[in-house]
Amino acid sequence: PLRRNIAEMAGYVPGFQPRDEHRYIKLNTNENPYPPSPKVIEAILAEVGDNLRKYPDAASRAGCEQAARLYGFDPDWVIMANGSDEVLNNLIRAFASEGDEIAYVHPSYSYYSTLAEVQGARVRTFLLDEGWALKDFPARYAGKLFFLANPNAPLGFCYPQEFIEALAGRIDGVLVIDEAYADFARENSLDLVRRLPNVVVTRTFSKSYSLAGMRLGMAIARPEVIAALNKIRDHYNLDRLAQAACVAALADQDYFRQCVTRIRETRDWFSAELRVLGWEVIPSHGNFVFATPPDRDAKRIYDSLFERRILVRYFSDPILSHGLRISIGTREDMEKTLTALAEIG
Ligand code: PMP
Repeated sequence: PLRRNIAEMAGYVPGFQPRDEHRYIKLNTNENPYPPSPKVIEAILAEVGDNLRKYPDAASRAGCEQAARLYGFDPDWVIMANGSDEVLNNLIRAFASEGDEIAYVHPSYSYYSTLAEVQGARVRTFLLDEGWALKDFPARYAGKLFFLANPNAPLGFCYPQEFIEALAGRIDGVLVIDEAYADFARENSLDLVRRLPNVVVTRTFSKSYSLAGMRLGMAIARPEVIAALNKIRDHYNLDRLAQAACVAALADQDYFRQCVTRIRETRDWFSAELRVLGWEVIPSHGNFVFATPPDRDAKRIYDSLFERRILVRYFSDPILSHGLRISIGTREDMEKTLTALAEIG
């Protein structure tokens, strides 16, 4: 007796995960090529032992307080999550009943559609025009929730803050700004959270803090929204290791800045080199680039890179199938990738 929408849905398919991943240059899931801060490793190791006998802090208070201090909010404006996927899931559960409408941009993060399917929510998608504005956006949008990935994934561009503010003003429901990649961008929308009641920002530790394997994310929003999300989440959603990692990662901002700077520099250099090879590259504000080869045959290049054990992301969706999303690895990873691309031609 499965619910019909569950029986009919395909489910989210993450980027390919080879079993022998150390034999690949893995540039297909936007992981960080550098290890987490040494202080994070120390903090995790300090938790390993007798402490694991005890439940973790249910509300992840130390992490919320650390994030609140860092971004200039009160702690009741923050919730920690088991990856930002968890908080995206809980947002849709909080705001959209079965049959309600939610919206997002296409292309953007494909997990939004999976979440809508599970919830039985109806979906409206908005396409992008040449200048990255949303096509046919109504004067007022009455849906319950609008997911906006900024920077956009998988394309990497950023919407101007004025555009986002205007969008929030035209939405009756909640505007969720998915800032998974915002640490690599020049701007973010935390100020909009302070000023506008219907704006929620979500963040992840998977990219800029090198903690994809730990599963850590958060949301920043008005206390009423955070209180609702706290009712819904698993009561011990972050284990003790994740909570220790969360506090230590946020505390080591020097390491964070160094890491982000290196990735941005490698991204900008790699984008320029790809253009020299004749590729079209969308200026990126994330830790990846979306780039189109000269003959627009991205599948051929994906296959040839795969044979050389270099994994990148190919999307069969016709809107994206001319290009590849390539995560930014170390300078050495990217040099090898460029050499392979020059060979493949
Ligand atoms: N949002 C976007 C736009 C993403 O690309 C990702 C990573 N795939 C996530 C959210 C989820 O990140 P995580 O669950 O690892 O925090």
